[in-house]
This record gives sequence, C-alpha cells and structure tokens, in this order.
Amino acid sequence: MAKGRAIGIDLGTTYSCVAAWEEQNGRAEIIVNDQGNRTTPSFVAFTDTQRLIGDAAKNQAAFNPSNTIFDAKRLIGRKYKDPEIECDLNLWPFKVVPGADDKPMIKVNYKGQEKCLAAEEITSMILTKMKDIAGAYMGSSVENAVITVPAYFNDSQRKATKDASIIAGLNVIRIINEPTAAALAYGLQKRATFSGKRNVFIFDLGGGTFDVSLVTIEHEVFEVRATAGDTHLGGEDFDNRMVHHFVQEFKRKDRVDITGDPRALRRLRNECEKAKRTLSHANDTTIEIDALFQGIDFRFPITRARFEELNRDLFEKCMEIAQNCLDDAKMEKRELHDVVLVGGSSRVPKVQSLLEKFFERNDLCNSINPDEAVAYGAAIQAALLSESYSIVPSMVLVDVTPLSLGVQVKGDLMSVVIPRNTAIPVKMDGVYHTTKDNQSWMSLPVYEGERTKASENNLLDKFSFRGFLMLLEAILSMLCLNLIMMKGRLSSAEIKRMIEEAAVFREEDKKFKKIVEAKNALDYYIYRKERGLKDFNVSSKVSASQKEAILSAFTVGKTLLESEKHNEASVFEDYLKMLQNICQSIV
Ligand code: AMP
Repeated sequence: MAKGRAIGIDLGTTYSCVAAWEEQNGRAEIIVNDQGNRTTPSFVAFTDTQRLIGDAAKNQAAFNPSNTIFDAKRLIGRKYKDPEIECDLNLWPFKVVPGADDKPMIKVNYKGQEKCLAAEEITSMILTKMKDIAGAYMGSSVENAVITVPAYFNDSQRKATKDASIIAGLNVIRIINEPTAAALAYGLQKRATFSGKRNVFIFDLGGGTFDVSLVTIEHEVFEVRATAGDTHLGGEDFDNRMVHHFVQEFKRKDRVDITGDPRALRRLRNECEKAKRTLSHANDTTIEIDALFQGIDFRFPITRARFEELNRDLFEKCMEIAQNCLDDAKMEKRELHDVVLVGGSSRVPKVQSLLEKFFERNDLCNSINPDEAVAYGAAIQAALLSESYSIVPSMVLVDVTPLSLGVQVKGDLMSVVIPRNTAIPVKMDGVYHTTKDNQSWMSLPVYEGERTKASENNLLDKFSFRGFLMLLEAILSMLCLNLIMMKGRLSSAEIKRMIEEAAVFREEDKKFKKIVEAKNALDYYIYRKERGLKDFNVSSKVSASQKEAILSAFTVGKTLLESEKHNEASVFEDYLKMLQNICQSIV
C-alpha cells in the first residue's frame, strides 16, 4: 500500500488525462488543466526562449513544427530500426536519429542549442505536466500514481514508461492496461444494475494504439479473460491516410509537392484531424487552408465515404483483432453481455457499424466517456492501492500476460513457457536440456512474443548458467545464475542524468515564468498609468516637465520590455519599483 494520496494517469499518444478518487462523492474526478480542458495534448515544444507542454505546445505546432514533439508513445521502448518507427519517420516533422544501442533520439533546438532527447524524457515532461495539473487541483504535490499503458505494450515499452515516470518524480504504484482501467470505470458505474456474471468486451481505439479486452465481472472480481491489440493503430493513422490522400490531390491539381515542407504538412494534418472529427457527424466537409504552400490556397472537399475507403483495411484490422481476442478467451459472441466503446477513435461511425455487424448487435455501449474512462479507472486502482482513502469500492482485479513468454532453444525456436493471456501472477516451469556432452555453460535468452522464431520476438533478458551439475538425461541443475541487464532499458546512471536534466528544465521553466510575470506587471503598470494621465487629466496637477519625465520613464520601460537582451526577472521588477517611486513622488 502506498503512503499518501494517489492519482490515475492515462498517458495517451495524442492526449493525456489525469483523475483522482473523491471519497465524499464515491467516484473518480477528471481534473481539468490550466486551460480548463479535461484532456491535455501529449505535446512538448521547444523554442528560443522556453519549453512548452500540453495545449501551449500544440497551439504553436504549425509555426515551430521541427521542435514540436508528439507521438513519443510510438517511440518509447522501441529501437530505431523497428519497422513501425521507420514508416513514422517520414511523416514526423521533427528529426529522430539513432543513438547508443540503436535507441531513437529526438533532435530539437532549444534556446539556440541542439539537444537530443530520448522518448522517456519527452514522456517524463508530459507526466510532469499531468502531475502538476493534479497538484494544483489537490492543493499539494502528489507523487503516487497508477499509469496506464496499452494492453499490448511489451516489457520494454512498459519499463521505459516506468523510467519516464521516475524521471518525472512519480512513484508508480502500478502500471495497468488501458482496457482494464476502462473496465473498472464501466464496472463501477454499472455494476449496481448487473445480476450475476457479466462478460464485457472493451473496444479501445485511441489516437495511436488499439486494444481489446474481454473482462468477466462477477461481484467485486474483474477478471480479464483475454486481451489483444496493436500498439501502432489508431486515429493518427487515419489522419495519416487523409494527409497522404490530400498531398496527392494537391500534387495532381496544382502541381506542387508539400512533402518537404514540415510547416505545410503540420497545417494540413491539423485540418485533416478536424475534418475526420466532422465526418463523424456530417456526410461531407471541405478542408480550406489559405496559402498552404508557395502562396497557393488549399481547398478540397472530402466525403465520409471517401474517408472510410481510405481507411478500410485499418478498420477491418480492428475486427480481426477483436476476433483473435474472442478466440483466445474461447468465448462466442453471443456470450457477451456488453460491448463498451473506449478511445476517441471509437466515435468513427464506420468503426461502430462494422462492430455492430461483427457482434451482430446494435446496442454498443457508449455510456462512458471514451476520452476519460481510462483515467477514471486508473484513479479507482490508485485509490485501492493507497492508504489515504478509507472509502473505496470493493474491487479485485485479475489481469493477464498480453504476450507469450518463452526461451530460445536450439534452431532459434521460441519455446513458450507462459502462454499469452495467462492470469497473473503466475509461476510456471520449463525443463531444458543441454545439447552437448559435458556442457558446463549455457545461455538462456528469454523472449516475449508470438513469433515461432525466437529472435523475431522481443528479447527480455539473458540468463547464463555456469558450472551446473549434469544430472540424468542432462537435466540442468543450476548452481549459479548470472543475470545480464536487459537491453534497451535506461541504466540507473542514465536515469540519474535525465532526472538532473529534468530539474534543470523545471528551473528554466520557473525562471521563464518569473520573467514573464515581471514583464507583464511592468507592462500593465505603464499602460494603467499612461491611461491615468490621459483619462483623469492628472496633468493639471502635474507640471509639464514632470509629465515629460514620467512619459520618458515609460518610454524607457517600453524599450526595456521590447528588448530581448534581458533574461532576469529582477531587471523588470527593479524598473517597476523605480517607476512606482517616481509616480508616487510626483502624482
Ligand atoms: P484518445 O487517445 O482516446 O484520446 O483518442 C484520441 C483520438 O481520437 C485522436 O486521434 C482523435 O482525432 C480521435 N477522435 C476524437 N474525437 C473523434 C471523433 N469525433 N471522430 C473521430 N475521431 C475522433
């Protein structure tokens, strides 16, 4: 049990959301950010003067595309050479380069200097923002958090997310799967109406990832029966298809190619995302962007049918994955009681109609907010794991391993020890034989994944055994176990360095905020006093030379405000004090 309060964070590819348990109301509360929004864009931007996170970062994306970072969730825990990353590289307006151990590093320009940041660092910045949003609402800083990840995230992606949380100064009390969190939210809101056992199918199609889970709810027990998904399938892919379509159309009609212009691409992407949302309730829409490229205006219509055609294979892939999940759970469609829609992209009408057809029902459940259900469920789990709450719902969660775990045996074969969708925690044994006589050393690589060839799966760890006894039939008896650090994960020295860098970023943000506040105070004072001089005709009490002295002091103040030379708040604070003294002594 964690000491102190705890929050639930849904760390999304495109948007993140934070929630906290409210004992007095018996429910979780979604916490609004400083802009009054319930979800915060998972964007971080770097400029010549400052770092921006969330809405502020997204709002300036079109003007600063190469330093505005999004999609960090698509990079986290992956290698640069990962084929999933390869296709994204051409679409991102920012630069990603291979770093040590083939780790993808994001290149940005911050305050005139080039910086290379890992996806964990960008993610930690988003998490820091979510932590601060919660802290502002709760009145003091909150360290404990339950963080959600796609059910289909592999071990390196989960561990990298944990590393990002450590850098953000969060104590991760548990990582839970997004559809499982949504099931908790749905179960809490609906279980009073349930009688007996309920088989709930969670369909979670977000911005960057897709997950399905089949959960059986019986009284307080939430048992995940099977889960399936794709960590690279979501609304962003639908946007990409539209962007690609319009790039071709623009080329065909106006003979211009915008692919080399990050700003034009960013502007087009923003409009495509808006058009996609419009097409969820309208049959057609038109994208209009003034002077998109070389002064040429962009104006193209798109119908819902065209949008559906562009994404047909992706929508169908969702149905295939849903079928896999049912197969793994060994359950028939007719045994399901509810099909619950989660994730912003589950609003796409074609996705819903395909689902209705697939499940042969027309009562898909969209009664829980698809953008907030995951954070809501994470907050419930956080309350269950924290000592600070006495009134919590009685819920027990049994989750499963999303991927099979096994070892590499002779011939690069994957020998599965724990099959996917096994309830956790679990303990299973495997018996392995040496392949040669008198063999005294053996390395046993542990993999995660569903491929027959072990090396095509995700390597978790390598265990080496030395000096073991050879028993009958060469069954291994281990004398010494030597664990080799898992590849791809940040070392403790790297985490320490990133924590230190995060503190530097925070200090710089604080300093920047202080400068902005000092500048605003000076600017406002000059504006108010100038108006005072004009509006109330104070001039009658003030001699012409005094008035001139005040006005010239204001002019110097304005020049100071416009100058980019000063980066200390005290310069503006001191000048404000001096102006106040002059005005008080004269007026
Ligand atoms: P989430 O990760 O659950 O916050 O989902 C975000 C994704 O949902 C983004 O790709 C959005 O563009 C998409 N989205 C949100 N609302 C709609 C809508 N009305 N129609 C289609 N897609 C939507």
